Amino acid sequence: MVKPKKHLGQHFLKDQKIARKIVDALSSDNQGRPILEIGPGTGVLTQYLIELYGSSLVLIDIDSESIVYLKEHFPQLKDRIIEGDFLTKDLSARMGEKYSIIGNFPYNISSQIFFKILEEKDHVVEVVCMLQREVARRLVSPPGSKEYGILSVLLQAYYDMQYLFTVEASVFQPPPKVKSGVIRLKRNNVKHLSCDEVLFKKVVKQGFQNRRKTLRNALKPLNLSDQIKAMPILDKRAEMLTVQEFVELTNELAAGGGNSTI
Ligand code: SAH
Repeated sequence: MVKPKKHLGQHFLKDQKIARKIVDALSSDNQGRPILEIGPGTGVLTQYLIELYGSSLVLIDIDSESIVYLKEHFPQLKDRIIEGDFLTKDLSARMGEKYSIIGNFPYNISSQIFFKILEEKDHVVEVVCMLQREVARRLVSPPGSKEYGILSVLLQAYYDMQYLFTVEASVFQPPPKVKSGVIRLKRNNVKHLSCDEVLFKKVVKQGFQNRRKTLRNALKPLNLSDQIKAMPILDKRAEMLTVQEFVELTNELAAGGGNSTI
């Protein structure tokens, strides 16, 4: 057995039915497409993934003890079991042009995993994952809600997102302190936003820096021109803006006007 390590966010799922349900949440058009499982641990999802995706499955886990366990239990995967950190490992050669991701993510780094997925958004077609319920809800929440935040906007710009179901803490060993949620992300057909995407990210991040402020105040560090400061949209808070409104705001800022220095 693998001893659960807290610093690696290891909570092993014990309920086979739920494991199967998570694997079944990958849509059927994934047949034949490479699938990456992040953090397989002791392989509770892997056993079902092998049945469905066999030779197109690749695993990555940072824990050497899990890697030994996985190699022993899934010898058929052989060199497709990678020991390493998903956040830093370059997987492009291994995964090819298009692939999907599945995993019960280590909750302590789930946001970082999503920022990495965003960097790979031209390659990652679909993601099915379990994470802290609260975070899962935040990611899928629409504009206007208190839970809507930076990652909700950035991810929803490129992915259609769906909250699938909640998982109780008691089905894990050891049980986490919080409930979990399973979500699915499917790449939409937006190749590029119709604005400067680097500036878009900057505006979204800065806008949510202090989410109770109006955008006029929150975006002050970006040295807005007087012309832009006068725009009515800046009376709003970041949490009110749709992706499209952020795109439009970004274009206004890029067009500059007056003394804007961004
Ligand atoms: N999928 C298993 C384990 C989930 S626990 C199950 O459902 O039971 C999270 C897993 O992510 C652990 O196996 C842990 O070792 C792994 N992990 C933690 N940080 C990681 C990282 N940076 N890169 C890859 N795997 C990581």
